[in-house]
Amino acid sequence: MPDKYKYLLPLPDFETKEWWGALRWYELVFQRCTRCQTFRHPPQGTCPRCYSEDHEWIKVSGRGILYSYITVWQPVLPQWRGDVPYNIVQVTLEDAPNIKIIGNVIGVDNSRLTINMPLVAVFDDVTQEDTILRWQPR
Ligand SMILES: [Zn+2]
Repeated sequence: MPDKYKYLLPLPDFETKEWWGALRWYELVFQRCTRCQTFRHPPQGTCPRCYSEDHEWIKVSGRGILYSYITVWQPVLPQWRGDVPYNIVQVTLEDAPNIKIIGNVIGVDNSRLTINMPLVAVFDDVTQEDTILRWQPR
């Protein structure tokens, strides 16, 4: 764990605290509408399909595939210049295929990333209180 994490940290709120709390337990959970069964992410108050406010939290396996990716050579913030190139990916989940979640793949050179690459969630404790979801090849 780095002494001082230089990236943006989560700011859990009423709708996202369950998500961030589950990551601390190395669990991946998503809201699922109890009316139409649609998964939704990021956590939000109403279902984008049927507008119901009812939902439950469902634990998923953490298995997914690489849907899309980019390699960043020009970082947004100057303190990230030393980290380029890095990847930003979209992952679709085996258990919630309508979800596309943004993250990073670790443990593989960016040149090895391929669409449909099988991935699994990994949980990165970046501070004593914060765990960030990342992905690695499986
Ligand atoms: Zn719904």
